[in-house]
Amino acid sequence: MRFTHIYVEERAYGYPLTEKILTKIPDAHVIKIKHYKDVFDRKRQNAPLQKEHQALIIAVRDGSRIFKGAPVCQSFGQKNFYYASSMMNCPFDCEYCYLKGMYPSSNMVVFVNLEDYRNDVEERLGEGPLYVCASYDTDLLAMNGLTGHADFWKEMALSHEDLLVELRTKAAVRVTDGIPNLIYAFTLSPEEVVNRYERNTAPVSARIDAAAKAVKAGAKVRLCFDPIIKIPDWKNAYKKLVEDAASHISFKDLTDVSVGTFRISSDYLTRMRKAYPDSEVAWYPYVIKDGVAQYEPDTDKSMQEYVLDLICEHIGKEKIFTWN
Ligand code: SF4
Repeated sequence: MRFTHIYVEERAYGYPLTEKILTKIPDAHVIKIKHYKDVFDRKRQNAPLQKEHQALIIAVRDGSRIFKGAPVCQSFGQKNFYYASSMMNCPFDCEYCYLKGMYPSSNMVVFVNLEDYRNDVEERLGEGPLYVCASYDTDLLAMNGLTGHADFWKEMALSHEDLLVELRTKAAVRVTDGIPNLIYAFTLSPEEVVNRYERNTAPVSARIDAAAKAVKAGAKVRLCFDPIIKIPDWKNAYKKLVEDAASHISFKDLTDVSVGTFRISSDYLTRMRKAYPDSEVAWYPYVIKDGVAQYEPDTDKSMQEYVLDLICEHIGKEKIFTWN
């Protein structure tokens, strides 16, 4: 991905990662700013239009950097479940992405003070083992060539055995390492969903191939059939997806599998509908339950159970996690 405009916070200039990123995009127009929020949080931004010409913002994150996992996210049985936000927004453009309701801007923010993230994690590790999803508000593996953030989290896992890191992706990344406390989580969706709603992501066949190779390389691999999206022929689409995945990937060697139907906080959905008045996904007539928008309870249940049954044919139930 090529950025034509890069905003740089004044104080970010003191960090080596800023220089590294800038030298990788020498033709970009660089604009110095006081604070990333002056650009990112501006009122009346056109997020869909920004997505077509995404700008990069290089900044320093102060305040909170790691957060308690939200109830709509899966903890995979881990007690101390946190997520880190070292980048905001994603190079991909999934129509259902909750970031569309979470942020006022589609521009991407990269934080360069990674050593502060290290300190935050080490402080929490003092209280016991920690599970950190490092790639929730972005796709760190897809951006790693430019930012090196996935490498940072890999190094964190290598140097802290009580830390379990998850890197989730919709890219077809090449994984060659088998680090016991680093999970590569590949999100798999039927081809119809990818073509319709997951713009710019890797084709699902390439993600399956990448996951298969990662398993062979000895890496810890998680498959995420999440979110399950209600498309017209969802039963056949998910059947084919699970069959394709199981015929290429050694399911018995997977760390685990996650399954979850689409859900989004009702506040995010309201904002998403305002910003994307033509979005099919945003305007589906969801049911709101406990502040979470989801499919009608019967549909939701039957979709989740159907996909669960398909997966159970290939892997033990104890390795499958659902969000509710
Ligand atoms: S890959 Fe994930 S973070 Fe990126 S746009 Fe899609 S859903 Fe959002």
